[in-house]
Amino acid sequence: QAPVITIDGPSGSGKGTIAKLVADRLGYALLDSGALYRLTALAALNADVDLNDQAKLAEVAANLDIRFDIANGEVSAVMDGKDVSRDIRMERVSMAASKVAAVPAVREALLQRQRDFRAAPGLVADGRDMGTTVFPDAPVKIFLTASAEERARRRYEQLRGRGVSVSLRDLLEDIRARDDRDMNRATSPLAPAEDAVVLDSTDIDIDAVLQKVLDLVHA
Ligand code: C5P
Repeated sequence: QAPVITIDGPSGSGKGTIAKLVADRLGYALLDSGALYRLTALAALNADVDLNDQAKLAEVAANLDIRFDIANGEVSAVMDGKDVSRDIRMERVSMAASKVAAVPAVREALLQRQRDFRAAPGLVADGRDMGTTVFPDAPVKIFLTASAEERARRRYEQLRGRGVSVSLRDLLEDIRARDDRDMNRATSPLAPAEDAVVLDSTDIDIDAVLQKVLDLVHA
């Protein structure tokens, strides 16, 4: 079986960026599992599915017609033949994704799909439960975290760079609410696997985190 490197952590910890860099560096495939929950949410919204109807949501997840395309180092999400990479990052989709992700039957429906990303020479899997539930046998597991304040600050800089004006306080509140939902749900709550290495990126930059992860891979 091809090796898997799992990178889990809360939103804003930088795990998406790190996962991509590690995959590039090693020539591994990349699984952005959050995108699968976002795609499920978008498909449900598009089909006017009631977000409280768990059976319907699971059906939507099981029947997704999606693929990920890579061009010039950028990954795009394609659903029903249409590039929806931007759509799945919209605020209303983020909110719906976090609701959809709390439904056990949805998580079950997406489980095998995630495992199917495993491929030679290896896979970097980014998410919340990659090391605990989806790839419990992964030889390298990272749990990347950072303080809520620092994660809110990073998001703030990122949005300001795009010309979006937001308040830092609102972002911090958002982050705390999402953490709360992620950590307190019944199925696969956000927590490091027992054998995960916990890295705190609050006071270190991306390059330093990348180096630490690569050291662990080569150890
Ligand atoms: O990481 P991202 O923000 O794209 O994730 C979107 C949503 O999917 C989040 O609400 C998160 O809780 C959920 N998620 C999850 N399990 C994963 C990845 C993401 O529940 N493995």
